[in-house]
Amino acid sequence: MPGRFHAAHTPGEYEALAREIEAAPKGLEEPAHVVPRAEQRRELGTDVYHGGLVMEAHASLDPGGYHQGLLERALAAGATVIPHCKVTGITGEAEAFELATAKGTVRARDVVVATNGYTSALTPWLRRRVIPIGSYIIATEPLEPGLMDSLFPTQRVVSDTRKVVYYYRPSPDRTRILFGGRVTSGETSPLHSGGLLRDDLIGIFPELKKTRISHSWMGFVAYTFDELSHIGKHEGIHYAMGYCGSGVGMASYLGTRVGQQVLGLEEGRTALDGLAFQTRPLYTGKPWFLPLTVAYYRWRDGAAA
Ligand SMILES: Cc1cc2nc3c(=O)[nH]c(=O)nc-3n(C[C@H](O)[C@H](O)[C@H](O)COP(=O)(O)OP(=O)(O)OC[C@H]3O[C@@H](n4cnc5c(N)ncnc54)[C@H](O)[C@@H]3O)c2cc1C
Repeated sequence: MPGRFHAAHTPGEYEALAREIEAAPKGLEEPAHVVPRAEQRRELGTDVYHGGLVMEAHASLDPGGYHQGLLERALAAGATVIPHCKVTGITGEAEAFELATAKGTVRARDVVVATNGYTSALTPWLRRRVIPIGSYIIATEPLEPGLMDSLFPTQRVVSDTRKVVYYYRPSPDRTRILFGGRVTSGETSPLHSGGLLRDDLIGIFPELKKTRISHSWMGFVAYTFDELSHIGKHEGIHYAMGYCGSGVGMASYLGTRVGQQVLGLEEGRTALDGLAFQTRPLYTGKPWFLPLTVAYYRWRDGAAA
């Protein structure tokens, strides 16, 4: 079933969600309805939230299947894909770039940098413009029959109104729960974050006290100073990045558009073209301010709940 349940972690946030949906600007309304706390268990088997909003048009996908499908289509279209091959240097200029890699040199008319949260000193101008932030996630072992249906009566994905958000869902085959979020102020290892995420998951669903975690992993997403995604060209190099944690849809969209821009096609134009890509003085790509910011937001989320 499509849709997302956005759960309110305070009564005030529930009121704000209800107001927001009422006050949607004309033309930007979306199919959504509020679910008060008394009816919340229709959506989610917990009482920790204060109701929430069902966004009916939101949808989810199996990211592994999506990646495989994209790869197959790129290969079928004639692209050459070389995995585990780091670009270590870009020299030359538009029409005649040379890229040094561990496996040899590549000559290219055009270069697109789409490294998002993994943008490095290879492209220092871009590195100064994105803020890499780790996002951490766990998968439970398969649940006992019946338990999934009581915790997740629908197949909707779930997020909550905390600034340091939790996002979670039943796996597409409804056997396991996938539970993600940020549990430490600084970056940590998935070995450490796994236990902390499990504690938070049990805080929402005490029924899972005996359920074990089978997987724990993390990856980097990229935030930007204006919280918008960016597409453009700098010194002849195309770029698309800065999805602020929601790149599955947006990276797919801007990836398509940047490809069309490389080809000089009219349909490659986007509303984000020409947007200044901001940085900040003294920011070189290492977000020293992040632990403080995350700690502050975690405190604020906790204080409000
Ligand atoms: C745990 C987690 C959960 C998430 N959940 C969601 C979600 O529910 N919904 C959603 O929309 N988004 C989610 N995201 C974010 C989403 O995964 C990203 O926004 C998306 O992957 C961005 O795609 P991308 O292709 O731009 O960058 P990436 O997928 O990050 O790919 C960048 C690639 O660049 C490569 N690279 C970097 N430097 C070099 C180099 N020098 N040479 C060669 N290659 C290089 C990296 O190896 C990497 O493969 C999540 C992310 C994480 C980590």
